[in-house]
Amino acid sequence: MSGLVMPKPDDATMRRRAEIVADMRIIVPGEGVVDATNEMRAFESDGLTAYRQLPLVVVLPETVAQVSRVLKYCNDRNIRVVPRGSGTSLSGGALPLEDAVLLVMSRFNRILAIDYPDRIVVAQPGVTNLGITIAVEQEGFYYAPDPSSQIACSIGGNVAENSGGVHCLKYGLTAMNGEVVRLGGNHLDSEGYDLLGVMTGSEGLLGVVTEVTVRILKKPETARALLIGFPTSEQGGQCVADIIGAGIIPGGMEMMDRPAIHAAEDFVHAGYPLDVEALLIVELDGPGVEVDHLIGLIEAIAYRNGSTTCRISQSEQERLSFWAGRKAAFPAVGRISPDYYCMDGTIPRKELPRVLAGMRELSGKYGLGVANVFHAGDGNLHPLILYDANVPGELDKAESFGADILRLCVKVGGVLTGEHGVGVEKRDLMPEMFDQIDLDQQMRVKCAFDPNHLLNPGKVFPQLRRCAELGRMHVHRGQVAFPDIPRF
Ligand SMILES: Cc1cc2nc3c(=O)[nH]c(=O)nc-3n(C[C@H](O)[C@H](O)[C@H](O)COP(=O)(O)OP(=O)(O)OC[C@H]3O[C@@H](n4cnc5c(N)ncnc54)[C@H](O)[C@@H]3O)c2cc1C
Repeated sequence: MSGLVMPKPDDATMRRRAEIVADMRIIVPGEGVVDATNEMRAFESDGLTAYRQLPLVVVLPETVAQVSRVLKYCNDRNIRVVPRGSGTSLSGGALPLEDAVLLVMSRFNRILAIDYPDRIVVAQPGVTNLGITIAVEQEGFYYAPDPSSQIACSIGGNVAENSGGVHCLKYGLTAMNGEVVRLGGNHLDSEGYDLLGVMTGSEGLLGVVTEVTVRILKKPETARALLIGFPTSEQGGQCVADIIGAGIIPGGMEMMDRPAIHAAEDFVHAGYPLDVEALLIVELDGPGVEVDHLIGLIEAIAYRNGSTTCRISQSEQERLSFWAGRKAAFPAVGRISPDYYCMDGTIPRKELPRVLAGMRELSGKYGLGVANVFHAGDGNLHPLILYDANVPGELDKAESFGADILRLCVKVGGVLTGEHGVGVEKRDLMPEMFDQIDLDQQMRVKCAFDPNHLLNPGKVFPQLRRCAELGRMHVHRGQVAFPDIPRF
């Protein structure tokens, strides 16, 4: 990624910058346009901070009509647009382009409707994930998908990244040509193709989300957690598979390996056992009787899988202390290494031991440590690769190590991402998972929404790909087809 190739800036757009900025000020009057270099610095990267780029101009619209006009203006003049929510993406999805308008949705920060009987909230896309729960918690409701970044990340960004298991979404969006489209509504199903499914996780490549309707849930009566330690990660992994296999769907099921356990314990003193290779936190929520019954079942499954410790929270304080270490795992790892690189891949649960063993091998090959934190219940891995950015070549090594981990995930039947998206980070690994036909088909969907390839180019798709020729490049006697198309 440090050698990442991005689309070549369009000279004509760069030459017209002053005119474009002036036109943006007409469309979004007031303080909605930022063009001074020092002020645009705040937007030059997202959560993938190894990579930075100043945009052409930053535009912060406040109304759907403004979004629509900005997109139409850019579409008519062949100007690229990068949508951005709160900029917490860990895969570089919101990374600006030098010749693109950065369309920041953070001023869309209002909750538009709360409907308790239908259990839905309609929000503007810049509302934070946590902001939705805060708006309804006094009535005993909450919004379930909860990425760790929920205090900052926007609900529009969550839709674009399909974050934290977002589901039951219905939203409105604005397509690249400025058309306002409503997909879904308060009802659970909608007529026609499932365009909602197409938009969810589309990483800002198909349209700009301008309104989101989410389903809220009643807060569970009880929540209790188990802290279970295993002498090997194989046993921990098998326990996870057996819990799911028994038909139990816990409210949360997270696993940490030895380096992560030690780092977390040193940091927050959560009372974690230090003599285990794998630690599982399983939370059960619902009516008290059901929770007690399931705790008994899980205890038995853990015992059958050779657990050496099993603690059950006896109070809310103890439940929170079980989670304290897990929630602090990332900053805790930050204390044991100058830098770390957080990967994100998903595997079939039963492959956990094999992938962990493979990661240990790769760790030896690259000479870099790795600590593991998993959303074990859904097989989503977050290996944290430890490196020192001040040592020449270590960032490159960390990136190659990360790419090899993702290749391993795909090899065992998994996928390149669990929740952080493809962005620029995993773009060039897409052919590991998809063949040419798959990628062409995905590009055809992109073309249906954005035929001029102006929305968030350089992200997700691995190589020269544009609607005109779907990326296939046959070079005959040095004559490149479509010479006008930027190569990236
Ligand atoms: C500390 C930390 C912890 C994290 N933990 C988790 C986690 O537990 N689970 C998880 O899933 N993710 C996690 N993330 C990643 C990140 O928070 C999510 O991907 C989040 O959904 C991004 O939202 P955002 O508003 O910051 O979007 P941005 O970073 O601004 O953008 C992300 C992508 O969405 C597109 N986009 C943003 N808004 C819109 C819009 N309105 N319309 C169309 N496209 C749009 C952008 O073009 C970009 O491709 C974490 C990040 C950090 C920094």
